[in-house]
Amino acid sequence: MDKNWKLETLAIQAGYSPKATEPRIVPIVQSTTFKYDSAEHVAKLFDLDAADPFYTRLGNPTTSAFEGKIAAMEGGVGALATSAGQAASTLSILNICRSGQHIISASTLYGGTYSLFANTLPKMGIEVTFVDPEAPLDELKKHFRAETRAIFAETIGNPGLNVLDFEKFSALAKEMRVPLIIDNTFGTPYLCRPFEHGAHIVIHSTTKYIDGHATSVGGVIVDSGTFDWSSGKYPELTEPDSSYHGLRYVEKFGPLAYIIKARAQLMRDIGTTPAPLNSFLNNLGLETVALRMERHSYNALKLAQYLEEHADVTWVNYPGLPSHPSYSRAQKYLPKGASGVLTFGIKGGKEAGIKFMESTKLIALVVHVGDARSCVLHPASTTHRQLTPEQQRASGVSPDLIRLSVGIEHIDDIIADVEQALQASQK
Ligand code: PLP
Repeated sequence: MDKNWKLETLAIQAGYSPKATEPRIVPIVQSTTFKYDSAEHVAKLFDLDAADPFYTRLGNPTTSAFEGKIAAMEGGVGALATSAGQAASTLSILNICRSGQHIISASTLYGGTYSLFANTLPKMGIEVTFVDPEAPLDELKKHFRAETRAIFAETIGNPGLNVLDFEKFSALAKEMRVPLIIDNTFGTPYLCRPFEHGAHIVIHSTTKYIDGHATSVGGVIVDSGTFDWSSGKYPELTEPDSSYHGLRYVEKFGPLAYIIKARAQLMRDIGTTPAPLNSFLNNLGLETVALRMERHSYNALKLAQYLEEHADVTWVNYPGLPSHPSYSRAQKYLPKGASGVLTFGIKGGKEAGIKFMESTKLIALVVHVGDARSCVLHPASTTHRQLTPEQQRASGVSPDLIRLSVGIEHIDDIIADVEQALQASQK
């Protein structure tokens, strides 16, 4: 692999280079375990002195190929694939944060992540302060405590679609000496590479654009290798790990410390491992993610422009539209396109919204985004229904909001379907 290759080339070539007689395509290694000849070799694996696969919970050749590819595409030093995006978010925090500690998160989050941070992490003793990502830097700083260990935010908030002010958030992380963890699910490494804007850790729900075809739930954590863990705040990375014969991750692995610890310690103990078949599908998805994101973004912009002119539409929210509050940020951080998701308000509110969703033909009503197929959803009654009305508003969800994940079908057919459904919604 040539590190100077462009993203589109890395998407095809990185992560797997077969030797003579080996399969050209990454094989699906559907095996829980791997054979060895000597106790000495196996001992090395357990001591983390060798990185060969020995048990699929901790590593698998198909999964490694996918991890190598996404790490190269994000510009990171290593990656850890997980069984779901939720597992990636959870492990990204647990790897550096324990009971009694605290993180700061943008409030504009996917509903499942909001719930994880508002309910489950606090039950484990980790407190989360939700902040308005538009608050000025000085306001944001006030939320920091001695126990704060990370900042978390999404590149494009789901479903609010606000684009993160990376400059402000990376300045905050730098000044407070904590890592900035970015959920880049809607960005994908093709549209946005958060490490180039000061982020330290990236996570994805690969379930969305990386798989891209709605076949596999999955997630991944990518480490930039750029955060300095030696400030004294992260003893789990710098002090001896009693579960690894006193190993010190930073001393032994340098810039790979965070991602190796996540695998060796948390994946060992928690076991949120992806199936090799899912890693195969995610690897295949990455090969075309650049082409798909180009088309998703093109179609979403065209549809947003069409909706903005429509008499039955009260507002349109798409960061690629000049009318969007994040437009200039989208131009700065997502210059190749603002991804495939848009939201809009329908004249007639909730009732018309339900009629609209039940009237689309090509666009399917499914709880999903980031699929090659167009889909529609009403978040307030589905993905965000566990939240209180205040929490919904803080996440950018209003009762009349309809979310469209614009697929890669021909734009004329998508617009025709939206037009007939809008007409049906007003009857
Ligand atoms: N992050 C974002 C932005 C999401 O949209 C989702 C799911 O929709 C997740 C994380 C959670 O991912 P998963 O469903 O793969 O657990």
